[in-house]
Amino acid sequence: MIKARIVDIKRMAIHDGDGIRTTVFFKGCSLKCVWCHNPESIGFKTQLSYIKKKCIGCGECVKVCESGAHIIENGNHVFHREKCTGCGKCEEVCLGEALKLYGKEMAVSELMPILLEDKDFYENSGGGVTLSGGECLMQADFCTELLKELKNNQIHTAVDTCGFVSREAIDKVMPYTDIFLYDVKAFDETVHIKCTGQSNKIILENLRYIDRCGKKIEIRIPYVPDYNSVEIEEIARFLSGLKNVTKVKVLPYHNYAGSKYEALGMENTLPEKIPDKEVIDKVEKLMRVVGL
Ligand code: SF4
Ligand code: SF4
Repeated sequence: MIKARIVDIKRMAIHDGDGIRTTVFFKGCSLKCVWCHNPESIGFKTQLSYIKKKCIGCGECVKVCESGAHIIENGNHVFHREKCTGCGKCEEVCLGEALKLYGKEMAVSELMPILLEDKDFYENSGGGVTLSGGECLMQADFCTELLKELKNNQIHTAVDTCGFVSREAIDKVMPYTDIFLYDVKAFDETVHIKCTGQSNKIILENLRYIDRCGKKIEIRIPYVPDYNSVEIEEIARFLSGLKNVTKVKVLPYHNYAGSKYEALGMENTLPEKIPDKEVIDKVEKLMRVVGL
């Protein structure tokens, strides 16, 4: 049975497409954006997050961890991340809620009962289910199975993608996807590489392809000062040439995710500078000027 690594399932989501939705976050991303505020979804492997200030030193984790990743030393809890195999046993017993496992393996049959719970809300609000990440299309076979099942249950489907995926992956999910939520981070290739570690050639080609196929597309542009802020006019001009863009959202960067990087033992790459309101207003005006 095919399974996927899932980071989180967010019910009553209102920013991941139209209406009230449930969003499934997949683990693993094909890009590595410097401003990523979901570091738990970047890597493909299961990860344990440990928030030191929540730990009450109860020692329950020490009793269940077969890898010896948790120890109590001089009355204090110490976590040896390098020994963790991601089994999740310690999360279940942690009294301080200091531990959280990201990347549980789930089958479509395990996800569907959760996704069906809010079906009435989807129907009454014009919502549905969104597959997100990470990059959900890095697990395209699983997404296809899940989307098929959702359509069998007459549920509206959205796929949130960064676009840095194979054409094959897009073709697999296309018949069962009502709308693509598509990130555009930069038009200039050099800027894109600086921001994400990868070229944007495939991303822009895939976007043109989805548009040619006549699928609805909602564009998302993260706005990050000193990184992609110089790109906005070019992006707007490019988007104005597409036919099936139903909405463009400009997402002002925020730097709240620093503590998540620390809890996961990852290097924090978040830029310092956040955009001010007037700049965002100007960007929105620009989008309207080019007809978006
Ligand atoms: S997830 Fe498993 S291996 Fe990792 S620290 Fe917890 S109990 Fe140990
Ligand atoms: S179980 Fe949780 S609260 Fe208790 S020592 Fe381990 S990490 Fe800390």
